[in-house]
Amino acid sequence: MAELAAHDTTISGSVDLHTHSIFSDGVHSPTELIAEAVRRGVRTLALTDHDTLAGLPEAAAASAASGIEFIPGVELSTEVGPYEIHILGYFVDPDDSLLAGALSELAAKREARAERIVERLESLGLPISYARVREIAEPGTLGRPHIARAMIELGYVNSVSEAFERFLGIGRPGFVPKERVLPEEAVRLLRDAGAIPVLAHPRSTGDIEGTLRRLVPEGLLGIEVFYGEYSVDVHRQLEAIADLWNLIPTGGSDYHGPAFKEGRDLGSVPVPRRSVDQLRQRREQR
Ligand code: AMP
Ligand code: ZN
Ligand code: FE
Ligand code: FE
Repeated sequence: MAELAAHDTTISGSVDLHTHSIFSDGVHSPTELIAEAVRRGVRTLALTDHDTLAGLPEAAAASAASGIEFIPGVELSTEVGPYEIHILGYFVDPDDSLLAGALSELAAKREARAERIVERLESLGLPISYARVREIAEPGTLGRPHIARAMIELGYVNSVSEAFERFLGIGRPGFVPKERVLPEEAVRLLRDAGAIPVLAHPRSTGDIEGTLRRLVPEGLLGIEVFYGEYSVDVHRQLEAIADLWNLIPTGGSDYHGPAFKEGRDLGSVPVPRRSVDQLRQRREQR
């Protein structure tokens, strides 16, 4: 309980626009996530699972029942060289079968990649069962965090971050690149689906200005300024970049579950109300 109380004092946000559920690599069901949001004083929440819309109907229903303002979202992962470029999409339509079809191709690529990572680990003397990884990920899209959890079960590593640092991260011996999905394609896919594409945790791109030069002409409309792992100084720098490029500044915790990483607790990032208002305005214009 002492730990919970300590968490509570850090709560400062009533808006959180970046969260994950068991439909990707989070630990809560959408219903549990909304209950957690209520508990932490979050009033506006977006669910942004990786490459899937599958959790959105449950999250929308739970939000309606709890008086939470819900924004349906998604997060698409792409890679450029050694960098990860993630694109958030807001106001996706959970019933959009064209988008769902494109996403299921991405999910299939995730499974093929995970099988190759499992083979790679086997050749490193760390055999794990792909079936077990799939079971851990159920019902979600497969990701490296699920492989990491299987490795923990077998005692190969002690934590998900250790698995990434030693084996699964870019440049580590168990790393297998994603089948190429360009960030331009992700932005176009979301734009064509009538969603609002936003550059997630922009520092991961390695070159923010270069990434914006690539993606703004394709229809990128926002940038994640208020990210929990970034300092207030970085928030200010990113806000200036958002102004310069006329992009909507969004933000969120990228919550995957409790005690995940510093700055990643649900509702722990101060995201201004105007982020939501500007997303809504844009949506009306579409
Ligand atoms: P994937 O979707 O398979 O590319 O895996 C990426 C996911 O792994 C991201 O959503 C992160 O939440 C998680 N992740 C990436 N790096 C780390 C890390 N060092 N420690 C824990 N989780 C990580
Ligand atoms: Zn994730
Ligand atoms: Fe991400
Ligand atoms: Fe995320």
